[in-house]
Amino acid sequence: MTGSTDYAREYAQSLSDPDGYWKSVAQRIEWIAPPTQIRDVSFDTKDFHIRWYADGVLNASVNCLDRHLATRGDRTALIFEPDDPNAEAQRITYRELHARTCRLANALRNLGVRKGDRITIYLPMIPDAVVAMLACARIGAIHSVVFGGFAPQSIADRVADCRSKLIITADEGLRGGKRIALKANVDAALALPGTNSVETVLVVRHTGAAVAMQMPRDRWVDVVVDGQPDTCEPEPMNAEDPLFILYTSGSTGKPKGVLHTTGGYLVYASFTHERVFGLRDDDVFWCTADVGWITGHTYIVYGPLANGATVVVFEGVPNHPDHSRFWRVIDKHQVTIFYTAPTAIRALMREGDAPVKAASRKSLRLLGTVGEPINPEAWRWYHDVVGDARCPVVDTWWQTETGGALITPPIGIDAKPGSAMKPFFGVQPALVDAEGRLLEGEATGNLVLLDSWPGQMRTVYGDHQRFIDTYFRAYPGMYFTGDGCRRDADGDYWITGRVDDVINVSGHRIGTAEVESALVSHAKVAEAAVVGFPHDIKGQGIYAYVTLIAGETESDALRAELIAHVRHEIGPIATPDHLQWAPGLPKTRSGKIMRRILRKIAEDVPDQLGDTSTLADPSVVDSLVRNRRGA
Ligand code: ATP
Ligand code: MG
Repeated sequence: MTGSTDYAREYAQSLSDPDGYWKSVAQRIEWIAPPTQIRDVSFDTKDFHIRWYADGVLNASVNCLDRHLATRGDRTALIFEPDDPNAEAQRITYRELHARTCRLANALRNLGVRKGDRITIYLPMIPDAVVAMLACARIGAIHSVVFGGFAPQSIADRVADCRSKLIITADEGLRGGKRIALKANVDAALALPGTNSVETVLVVRHTGAAVAMQMPRDRWVDVVVDGQPDTCEPEPMNAEDPLFILYTSGSTGKPKGVLHTTGGYLVYASFTHERVFGLRDDDVFWCTADVGWITGHTYIVYGPLANGATVVVFEGVPNHPDHSRFWRVIDKHQVTIFYTAPTAIRALMREGDAPVKAASRKSLRLLGTVGEPINPEAWRWYHDVVGDARCPVVDTWWQTETGGALITPPIGIDAKPGSAMKPFFGVQPALVDAEGRLLEGEATGNLVLLDSWPGQMRTVYGDHQRFIDTYFRAYPGMYFTGDGCRRDADGDYWITGRVDDVINVSGHRIGTAEVESALVSHAKVAEAAVVGFPHDIKGQGIYAYVTLIAGETESDALRAELIAHVRHEIGPIATPDHLQWAPGLPKTRSGKIMRRILRKIAEDVPDQLGDTSTLADPSVVDSLVRNRRGA
């Protein structure tokens, strides 16, 4: 049990002397002027401020690039695995990445981009996306990465919200063999109202497709970087100067422009990347998230590169050309740490073990998951089949707002399937009831954080009041996460789903995650989503949407069997009142189930679905609406 003793000792130290602890952690990065002020925080809405390392000066791109040149310039920074498995993979060293970043940074300066300007990045998962982010960081421009799967209206909304001056895109993207008309989407976005702040569109030549160039607005990246020097004077940034804006995935409503600053974020990204994953010098780290999400920002770009690690950048999808793709890429690049989302795990589990067994996966030593609660069934499959029961699984709970992982199993401690386990160093989670009373010991409640950590977001871009109101108003003096959580008798944390999703059946509060996990534990169920709906007697009833394993058929007998299964697993109180077959579930483009929409369908008000612009595949909604209980 050394793991748990070491963890407990360091955790206690991080709380008893936060200034000393975070001062020493900050030494892991390179400062132009090291901070003497460490932590300056008040969650009190009357005197609200969050500042970390406030007198420190640094540049994030220097930390991710220049700092490594002397010692590991020839080490591979990025391994690029293209969408097409037959296309050649690329390895890019720190030296090359530095030169490419500097050339683009110089070009951006020549185009008039200055510190504080907002730049929208709308690119596929290619090395140019990393270069674009780091080039912005180099010159102090604030990047806003918009996931390459978004449509013109979503791009336009995000451009308009932060008044971007310049967009970096590509001719096309490639995903699962399909071409995505990125440049054409940008053209369409810029024809929409509110986008006239954009002066320049830079286009990466990726597939080589012919695209319409509108002069003088549109410029090819290869042309503007041509002849630029491969060094570039970095902009000295105050620790509290913004590094980026990132819009949340929109699971609960309209996305928020989450703003992260430079010093605290970088310290927290690099520190958690090392400690959550137990990083070693020879690791090949693969996070399958897109750079359009916070997971990609923190654990593909800023964390790993600040740590001088080797990371895989994967352009493709898990099911192309077949369901073995992930596992073949692991063999091909000898990946040691693999980090993905429950949605991908469930989708691959649905296809059985054979596609996994088609690859050896011998290089793997640690597995991670993030994005949604992971059902214990999916956790076990991930651990037993993907990891051959020899790789620990770290279930990392965090948010766009938190910058990095906050609750995660400490290295060396056996994790319980489905539990994110323990707070990371310096993090103080707590549970409160609806009135904001702190709950002690074993309890279920709303998850709050009692104090700040360096990676915390600083504001909602352009709407500081919305930041305070959204996160600090509900429970005075605390950051409210919006998630529900259970703490067990050992003090381990289990995220039960979003608080809005909690179902109140005859006065009993039932977390969606628990009922969904019971359904997924049935051998024929691949995925499930559970919501509440108005019920005359119970107040709320339980409405379950169920997707079956590939090859299973829907029947009334199976429906009854699944309802009985939940009753048996959890108890009569959790018995679903209605179970609807769902060939597909509405998900955000980052793969999260949007229960908000399922709730409206269950409530039989399909004309009130709200904002559906962040849905990955709107057509699944139509079919669910047609087959709803009330129809
Ligand atoms: P929006 O805030 O716009 O509704 P979102 O909450 O989906 O979108 P993200 O910041 O991408 O945006 O997601 C964070 C949320 O994802 C968390 O609040 C939590 O609900 C869920 N989540 C992330 N990781 C985990 C995890 N390991 N276990 C359980 N839930 C998780
Ligand atoms: Mg959220």
